[in-house]
Amino acid sequence: MAENNILSTAMENFSRASLMLKDEVEANLLAKLSMPRERVEFTLTPQLSDGKVHVFTSFVVRHSDALGPAKGGIRMTADVTLDDVTGLAMEMTWKCALIGVPFGGGKSGIVSDAGNLTPKDKETLIRSFVRNGLRHIGPQVYVPAPDMGTNETDMGHIKDTISFSHGQAITQGCFVTGKPVLLGGIPGRREATGRGVAMCVEKSLELFDIDTQKATVVVQGFGNVGSVTAQLLNEMGVKVIGVGDIEGAVYNEFGLDISALSKHAAQTASVKGFASASAISGSELLELPCDVLVPAATAAQITTDNAEQIKAKIVAEGANGPTTPEADEILYKRNIFVIPDILCNAGGVFVSYLEYTQETQQEQMTVEHVNSRMKKRITQRFEEVLRLANDRKMSMRDAAMLLAVRTVCNALKSRGYQP
Ligand code: GLU
Repeated sequence: MAENNILSTAMENFSRASLMLKDEVEANLLAKLSMPRERVEFTLTPQLSDGKVHVFTSFVVRHSDALGPAKGGIRMTADVTLDDVTGLAMEMTWKCALIGVPFGGGKSGIVSDAGNLTPKDKETLIRSFVRNGLRHIGPQVYVPAPDMGTNETDMGHIKDTISFSHGQAITQGCFVTGKPVLLGGIPGRREATGRGVAMCVEKSLELFDIDTQKATVVVQGFGNVGSVTAQLLNEMGVKVIGVGDIEGAVYNEFGLDISALSKHAAQTASVKGFASASAISGSELLELPCDVLVPAATAAQITTDNAEQIKAKIVAEGANGPTTPEADEILYKRNIFVIPDILCNAGGVFVSYLEYTQETQQEQMTVEHVNSRMKKRITQRFEEVLRLANDRKMSMRDAAMLLAVRTVCNALKSRGYQP
């Protein structure tokens, strides 16, 4: 299987956990979890602003609903596949179980380059996805959220399309998270994933006895996750010495001015060309000497091609699946501390859970409340995973997967084995 395949990475991480659990969990139960519960592909044919009908492929996958309704974002990229969505849905199952929210794992995909659509056409496409996929979405079925290529605005349009389909201003319960606050979203959700990553980085700096004021960080990806992580770490006093995106990367050994970089990126749609920094390549960025490397762009960025060259002491996975299993082994042997995605970027889905409860109970939470609940949960789960990793002398990923898969198996057992 190709090394850089999202599904094969998810399957490999799961088979390692299955092996560790083989004496406590029945093999058939693990076999059940190796397969998605539902994989749906459907075609969208909206009429876009050029007056023509366009054809798009879209997917919804529910990997498991043992712990609750499937949860996970909508990925809108030109190359997303049904297998990618399946791997990502599987990963959501473990992420929700590990962070302790009552959701299963799901994901959806729309094959389109979000950046190439006008806002109006994107809205039309999102509404078409919802109308065609309506029977796969619901507070007790699958609850979407933002992922690569989708954002808060899109989630607002999803809520509106669903409400409209009922001829109402709102619907009972929460159909989608990551919405604008005015439409029942929760304050702090947009920053939640990056904030969770920054919390994990802070915990690991503490663990390695590295002073935040002296620490250096490199961030790959300057979208919602990477930019917030860089900003928050910078506010803590950490020096962000390198940042990159798909267009290019920039480096300043004395630390980049992240606020100025954010302004530059907002104006030019890239970090490339930022003054007071030198231009470097994407591969040089990953191999910079630093304390922490945050891959927050996309999958399969740390592979056998560069794992030996990574110089960071800590790798904090902001993206889903940025390290291939083969590279993972190399990093482990080289004593590089990897904070796995299912822990490191779980702040997003944790705050989605708060949004779900807020909407269900029709209450309002403050950003202080949201952030302090997230901090408490991430800290507690980080420590639990670390304890197991130390006790059993295994990687943080293996420990996190062991805890997560065991939780889902226990949920299945408690349900009494459904068909
Ligand atoms: N797309 C995000 C993730 O991969 C968030 C999912 C959610 O909030 O449901 O974790």
